[in-house]
Amino acid sequence: MSFFDEVSRIDVDKFRDLVDSRTDADVERALSKDGPKGVEDFAALISENARRHYLDVMARMSEQITRRRFGHCVNMYLPLYLTNLCSNKCAYCGFSVLNKFPRVVLTMEEIKEECEAIAKMGYQNILLVSGENERRGGMDYFRKVLPLVKQYAAYLQMEVQPLSEEDYAELKTLGLDAVSVYQETYHPGRYKEVHLGGRKADMRWRMETPDRLGRAGIDKVGVGALLGLYDWRVDLCCVALHLLYMREHYWRTQMSVSFPRLRPAAGGFQPTLPLSDAKMVQVICAFRIFDNELDLAISTRESAEFRDLIIPLGITAVSAGSSTEPGGYAHKGKYLEQWTVNDSRSVDEVVGALERGGFDAVFHNASTTYFKEAGAV
Ligand code: SF4
Repeated sequence: MSFFDEVSRIDVDKFRDLVDSRTDADVERALSKDGPKGVEDFAALISENARRHYLDVMARMSEQITRRRFGHCVNMYLPLYLTNLCSNKCAYCGFSVLNKFPRVVLTMEEIKEECEAIAKMGYQNILLVSGENERRGGMDYFRKVLPLVKQYAAYLQMEVQPLSEEDYAELKTLGLDAVSVYQETYHPGRYKEVHLGGRKADMRWRMETPDRLGRAGIDKVGVGALLGLYDWRVDLCCVALHLLYMREHYWRTQMSVSFPRLRPAAGGFQPTLPLSDAKMVQVICAFRIFDNELDLAISTRESAEFRDLIIPLGITAVSAGSSTEPGGYAHKGKYLEQWTVNDSRSVDEVVGALERGGFDAVFHNASTTYFKEAGAV
């Protein structure tokens, strides 16, 4: 039985009541538990009572767990947008097929230029991102792209359309280390409302992707929800449930969570049900306390001030100097960006802020030895 089958048997809206009914005693129980925590504990940690009475305690605990588990290292990664071509109709995204603008699929020559520009920025951890278009941006394309990008990437991640188990297994042989596939929202009704057409409208296919990744033996799998699409209490409890499921079924797979808050995009979609900064702090600390091993990432969707505040409390991976436009590192401003970057500081500025906070910005993966601070990249 897949995670989709499991979650389809429950009314996910009940998570809202679960969160709202958590008492101070529930929060204290969750905070004092040494062993594995359940969804009830997670619900307590993201509850209003936890925010009002325990946010300082949670922040301190989250910071201590993170230092104990990950030291003072923050992994630096950079997204490389391969294409803005997409066959899907997501109401909240500038790349939706419904938006009319020039489309591009980067050629191998253009990707090489991007990789060289990225290498000059010091990055060896590259996240390939694309719209979802099987015909021009499917496996035939990835079979050419991965060997090229792998020449520049010690750690190679993808955030592209969901693929089959066989495809993931093949991409692993080409150097793929990690895949993120965000469910956007776990609420079936809302999912249907905002995914108006294309393969992504098939909720089962998307939600079963982490299962396929686990079976294909991909080392790290990223899950998450697009915060602002639906009630964050519901979606985040589903993310916690998804993590528990993955731990039970694919215990060898390392898991990561991101916290994308919906940003304004081409097409005029405005975020609804926003999550305040204070709640975001609480949510990130809640995930760290819920699962000490999680890789927690924060992108340039968030402001510089917020990122500087939250990184010490639990974050293990950040991007900096990002472009969300295909070809945007070598030739800025040529094509439409997917969403507007909020933290527009340069890589050096972000690294400087990290170093002032006592952190090492790590531009390599565990199997390489290059640190930017050592001048090796
Ligand atoms: S969110 Fe992804 S799948 Fe949806 S339109 Fe944008 S690029 Fe395409």
